[in-house]
Amino acid sequence: SFAADVVPKAPEDPLFGLMTAYRADTFEKKVDLGIGAYRDDNAKPWVLPVVKKADAVLRSDPNLDHEYLPIAGLQQFTSASQKLILGKNSPAISEKRVASLQTISGTGAVHLGALFLKKFYRPGQTSSVYFSSPTWANHNQIFSNVNLPITTYPYFSAKTRGLDFDGMLSSIKSAPEGSIILLHACAHNPTGVDPTQDQWKQVAEVMKARNLFPFFDCAYQGFASGDLARDGWAISYFVEQGFELVVAQSYAKNFGLYGERAGCFHFVAAPASDATDVATRVASQLAILQRSEISNPPAYGARIASLVLNDPALFAMWEEDLRTMSSRIIEMRKALRSKLEELGTPGTWNHITDQIGMFSFTGLTEAQVQKLRADSHIYMTKNGRVSMAGINTNNVQYVAEAINKIVR
Ligand code: PMP
Repeated sequence: SFAADVVPKAPEDPLFGLMTAYRADTFEKKVDLGIGAYRDDNAKPWVLPVVKKADAVLRSDPNLDHEYLPIAGLQQFTSASQKLILGKNSPAISEKRVASLQTISGTGAVHLGALFLKKFYRPGQTSSVYFSSPTWANHNQIFSNVNLPITTYPYFSAKTRGLDFDGMLSSIKSAPEGSIILLHACAHNPTGVDPTQDQWKQVAEVMKARNLFPFFDCAYQGFASGDLARDGWAISYFVEQGFELVVAQSYAKNFGLYGERAGCFHFVAAPASDATDVATRVASQLAILQRSEISNPPAYGARIASLVLNDPALFAMWEEDLRTMSSRIIEMRKALRSKLEELGTPGTWNHITDQIGMFSFTGLTEAQVQKLRADSHIYMTKNGRVSMAGINTNNVQYVAEAINKIVR
């Protein structure tokens, strides 16, 4: 049997541990600012109206069955996903140099990408993957599971609570040739801080000069600005610049399909006369990896997303739903900031409205986070990240007052 020194007890996943603690709390005014899932103004999960509609269409189909999908997933879903993430007029699509596989949401896409790179990227050479500091905690686990060496580039400035762009750029500049640079396409998790388009252009220029490999993680398209094309801009710009790159795409947040695990992995070959052949060969290897990992991806969420992505009327409804979610979050940013300022809370709070997407990196210390939980039953991750979706018109005053109290 396995001795404890062989299989030591692992710590509980911090985020899901937080969720359990929140659920067990019986205090009436408790507030969940932990998990990154959208909530409506009554703190309830929100099934997007367009998803309800697509779901009803699917369920009324007498021919709906539960057969296996192909290894690469639902073809109408993966091709619509390419258009969504690269832009429908992307040269990469018309030149047939994209290989796409449906995955177990964004996590599965990141994993498939990591596994593929470990196996095929620059054989015989060790290339590291660079993460922003900080990044989504799971990046570390996923890439270490496949034994890719990990290092970080500066990203967040604790002083300005904005982007440390000089630090980011100079670190990327000095990365060894061929390094893999993981980039959050938009709505950076956990900081809510994104480069501007001009800054992205500078990053692309340096990466091109240094022959670095972009790995885009896109879990919040449509959530940052409410505009899908705008949120996907960095990826389409890099493709335009002729990079060979990969993208992990999640539909968890923007469709509210969290538990259905709908996502996609894309490999884009650089423009070249043999680019279609490169993409075809890569697709064949990705299929082998996929087969050994999950055989084939789950069908239901992809069917829902596919219906919406391929139907102009449903697509327009989806865009409306995205605006509903992103604008409620923006309103809550404004409300929280102005309440903190009204209370004269020490410090500056402009970062709450400057940051975008689902999260705000408040700058609260771990001790303050613990005190908020103990005194006020407000739950957030210990790095001071707040899921803005947990704030609503009923609790924003309570949250502001609690923060005001603990920072004094
Ligand atoms: N990447 C980032 C940066 C994320 O924040 C998330 C969601 N927490 C994911 C990937 C993937 O999530 P999922 O597997 O639920 O799509």
